[in-house]
Amino acid sequence: IAKQSGKNRYHLFDAANDLRARSHHELLQQIRHGLAHGEFELYYQPKVEMSTGRLVGVEALIRWHHPTRGFLLPDEFLRVIENTELEIELGDWVFSQAFQQLQRWRQAGEDFEVSINASAYHLQSANFVPKLKSLMGHYCAQTCRRCVQIEVLETAALDDIARVSAIIKSCHEFGVGFALDDFGTGYSSLTYLSNLDVDTLKIDQSFVRGMLEDKGDHAIVQGIIALAKAFDRDIVAEGVENDAHYQALLQMGCEVGQGYGIARPMPAGDLIEWSEHWKPSKTTLGEA
Ligand code: C2E
Ligand code: MG
Ligand code: MG
Ligand code: MG
Repeated sequence: IAKQSGKNRYHLFDAANDLRARSHHELLQQIRHGLAHGEFELYYQPKVEMSTGRLVGVEALIRWHHPTRGFLLPDEFLRVIENTELEIELGDWVFSQAFQQLQRWRQAGEDFEVSINASAYHLQSANFVPKLKSLMGHYCAQTCRRCVQIEVLETAALDDIARVSAIIKSCHEFGVGFALDDFGTGYSSLTYLSNLDVDTLKIDQSFVRGMLEDKGDHAIVQGIIALAKAFDRDIVAEGVENDAHYQALLQMGCEVGQGYGIARPMPAGDLIEWSEHWKPSKTTLGEA
């Protein structure tokens, strides 16, 4: 009996695996189809200089208008294409869209930066640097220095510091900047920062979320800000969800913030109007 139930369990497990493999395959097909049929869209989330409310940059974030499942966030589909050719295809699509949008904003007289997320696999793929250089040549003025910034997860950059550092160096030559995303979640030793010439550190939102209640998180946020200043890097706080976060970060000397408390990611077409109307109130700034 024991043997038989063991065998049944095995069958069940097998069936579940099979189902998973099939839905995985189906999702890959749907992504390919969606890419060819315009189902993806980039949303943009503002980054503001917190003392003034000035829009200094936007982060491009991918969204999927799935024909049957509705509006999907990246966590629901990026994982399945990790380390595959499709990840590079989708990544290339994101880059090309973001550059076209940047050009439209420039033509409308806007001067904020555009940040684009790159996966570790895309960043380290064979033609990443030349493709990016060609986008810069095609869409950006000669004078555009650091008007495009690439966000790489801290954990991804730590994969192969020498390699990533060489990529950053080449991209700096044609004006593209780099940010370490979700900073603070990656590694306990920070000495690697002196070998990695990133322009910006983005404090991970988990620390911002915890910093008002948790002394440890508060110390980490303060530590990252001090580190950024010591290494002469820019700093952006992610996950600024409310006035209390906003004020605490300002007080700690963090200049730029991004989060639902400022604005949620939005379609490109909504951004200018948003920036014309948004300003931190006295309550947000803690002056009321
Ligand atoms: P990320 O690069 O760290 O982007 C920030 C994420 O936090 C976004 O989620 C954003 O909507 C969310 N967020 C912003 N402010 C707040 C806040 O105040 N509270 C909370 N709880 N969340 C906030 P999203 O758009 O779902 O993206 C998730 C992750 O997917 C991104 O994290 C990034 O790693 C990845 N991703 C998004 N778009 C792309 C893309 O085009 N290419 C690549 N390779 N990865 C992408
Ligand atoms: Mg990011
Ligand atoms: Mg992040
Ligand atoms: Mg993240």
